[in-house]
Amino acid sequence: MNFYIGIDFGTSGARLVITDPKGNIHQEVESPFPESSSPNELPVIWKTTLFDLIAKIPLELRRQTGAIAIDGTSATTLLCDRQGKPITSPLLYNDGRGVEIMEQSIAIAPENHPVLSATSSLAKLLWWQHHHREINTESQPLYFLHQADWLGFLLHGKLGISDYHNTLKLGYDVAHLHYPRWLTNEINRESNPLKLQLPEVLAPGTPIGEITLEISEQLNLPKHCVVCAGTTDSIAAFLASGATSPGEAVTSLGSTLVLKLLSDTPVNDARYGIYSHRLGNLWLTGGASNTGGAVLREFFSDRELETLSNQINPNISSPLDYYPLLKKGDRFPINDPSLPPRLEPRPDNSVEFLHGLLESIARIEARGYQRLQELGATPLSQVYTAGGGAKNPVWTTIRGRYLKVPMVQPIHTAAAYGAARLAYGVEKS
Ligand code: ADP
Repeated sequence: MNFYIGIDFGTSGARLVITDPKGNIHQEVESPFPESSSPNELPVIWKTTLFDLIAKIPLELRRQTGAIAIDGTSATTLLCDRQGKPITSPLLYNDGRGVEIMEQSIAIAPENHPVLSATSSLAKLLWWQHHHREINTESQPLYFLHQADWLGFLLHGKLGISDYHNTLKLGYDVAHLHYPRWLTNEINRESNPLKLQLPEVLAPGTPIGEITLEISEQLNLPKHCVVCAGTTDSIAAFLASGATSPGEAVTSLGSTLVLKLLSDTPVNDARYGIYSHRLGNLWLTGGASNTGGAVLREFFSDRELETLSNQINPNISSPLDYYPLLKKGDRFPINDPSLPPRLEPRPDNSVEFLHGLLESIARIEARGYQRLQELGATPLSQVYTAGGGAKNPVWTTIRGRYLKVPMVQPIHTAAAYGAARLAYGVEKS
């Protein structure tokens, strides 16, 4: 029997799952990243973590591994020499140092494009171009890679391959499956001090090649084990849910509220921070609101959330109408940088207060899905839930009242499980 490995490189650590072809998990292992590491140490930490995770799988499973797929944090990027050795510290997913350069370069990208953000992969590439004096350019061209691309390379040895999820924020045209002219003209300008090689882009889950002989021997993996093109951590988490049809959505109730809706048509609107990833012949669209669990945590411990929620009657609506935020401003479903938090009137009774908060966040969620549909997305048909709020059945019932569609249990919520699904071929179109 073949087994499939999915590996998720998240923000605070990495996790691996190994499944059989039916999707049953046979082993799950995780490894947190050391807390205080300097940026230039990160590639070594990632590489060690990758190899350690694989080495933790029992030998009898490892020896039957058919395919591996890896997801990484979106827009975590590296510059490598021709041997694949990083020549600068990576720039992480949340690194916004490219903001000024992106603002100066705004004219190169079409209006509303997802590259137009301070933390996009393109902002990082342009930042490196502007800081070329700090970079050793002896071994040009330099390879621009994402975290998942580089980790995959360590296993299959083919340098310069990515997927169309990781490259969306680099500017790759996912509708036409090529790098657009505005981007290649910019990258290949004669006057550019850095000669950069953009990665070749494959559909996530496409087999790239077998692992190298060295890796096979070092990690006790079969010689014919294949490494597939990867994805980003948030898409891997979506894939883990089991959602596959247009209209199915995953709401993540973590610190913030993140909606993802599978649609027949792409929806993009930079005003609301809405963009679409390609998923085979479908599109994964969505948006993120600043409301969510972080506001709940301001007022209640997780234990209180559980005990107080159990005292709420979810079938009765609360008269309290809040817009729970930690500080002013939201982008989706309302785009208003000065939108004030609305948390008044606050009843003395904590159960009533929490009821008002849960109900208000549910209203914002419903408004979010409505916004996506107004902009052309496929109508909502069912909602899976991930994140800390998923374990609150009272909240699920309240949300169901507003969303008016079945609320279903995801198969799994761990991104590593979504990566394993990629490895066994849910998305090879
Ligand atoms: P993130 O990864 O975004 O930090 P998690 O997915 O770990 O967040 O979820 C943590 C959030 O879940 C916290 O902000 C907390 O308020 C919320 N949470 C935890 N338990 C419950 C519960 N029983 N009901 C509602 N929300 C909860």
